[in-house]
Amino acid sequence: MATSEPAVQQQAELKKSCVNCGAELTYKPGTSSITCAYCGHQEEIMVDPNGFEELELSPYLKEMGAQSHSEKISMLHCKNCGANQHIEENYKSLHCVYCSMPLIVEDMYIEDWILPGAVLPFQIDQKQSFQTFKRWVSGLWWAPNNLKKASLDPQFTKGLYLPFWTFDAQLRANYTGQRGIYYYETQSYKDSKGNYRTRRVRKTRWYPASGKVSGFVDDTLIKASQQKAGRIPKDIARWDLKKLQPFNSSFLRGFITEKYTIPLQEGHLESKEEARRIADRWCRQDIGGDTQRVNSIDMKLSEETFKHILLPVYVSSYRYNGKEYNFFVNGETGAVSGSRPYSFWKIFFAVLLVLIVVGIAIYFGQQAEG
Ligand SMILES: [Zn+2]
Ligand SMILES: [Zn+2]
Repeated sequence: MATSEPAVQQQAELKKSCVNCGAELTYKPGTSSITCAYCGHQEEIMVDPNGFEELELSPYLKEMGAQSHSEKISMLHCKNCGANQHIEENYKSLHCVYCSMPLIVEDMYIEDWILPGAVLPFQIDQKQSFQTFKRWVSGLWWAPNNLKKASLDPQFTKGLYLPFWTFDAQLRANYTGQRGIYYYETQSYKDSKGNYRTRRVRKTRWYPASGKVSGFVDDTLIKASQQKAGRIPKDIARWDLKKLQPFNSSFLRGFITEKYTIPLQEGHLESKEEARRIADRWCRQDIGGDTQRVNSIDMKLSEETFKHILLPVYVSSYRYNGKEYNFFVNGETGAVSGSRPYSFWKIFFAVLLVLIVVGIAIYFGQQAEG
């Protein structure tokens, strides 16, 4: 559980450029290798199956910044939208993944990050994701021409690894509450016509209850990026965490990685809220009966560990009237979701046309009557 040497060391041996043609090797989605886009040369990414790095939480909560399990990475900060992005390979020009504003390579700076303990490698490739975006746009009514243009240029669709924290803990809780049992009473009443009638009414009898629950809380997933991950629609933000691989930076090659902006401490507080909801659920199950009241829960978490993990999405970005819009494809499942602008002028002229047609119809209608 505690940290040993980082599992990422082994990746240093992998060549970063193609032995045949010198082009950069990038991770090929759905595989476990990096490949050359030009000649097809492949190198296998070796991951240690036992290399998942669950880190003991408490030392990291106390002294952030001075841990053994952190590393320096190069970061580019978008001055327009604030996103922090990292790219493994060399590049000459680059646009922000979210707002498609140009990023200045000279602005790159080096900073620390807690190394990811695991990564869920892309399963869907850029081409598939771009095709999905294109299909989505072509099915839209009233889409502005800018959007149509963006859907023709694959460089506006990029693969992005999003940062998350996951927490594990042993949960123990003592609770007090009440068990409710339903019973039915027959009541008589007078109906609107003045006749006496009877009806059955459900009531609840309450009994005191108290006890203990305990169990393991596994992989509570908390977003680690304030600016952008928060905007990613909930319906596509679901990944199969069983597909996580021990971290190896070769999986990041050819993709953009966003650095966490929500500190571990903040993520941990949020995970405790989630643990409290889980404890409440367990207490209610333990109380049983037909319905329950929970009066108090005394919860304790122990053996707390965490991981910094990276999860894949594709982002298509386009600008309209000075505003950024994003279309998202889940890089594992292919689930899609996007926000879209409406073209004012397209709608304006359509409404105008309808009014003219209606006007003409009324005019001729009146002529016919007169
Ligand atoms: Zn090659
Ligand atoms: Zn940006």
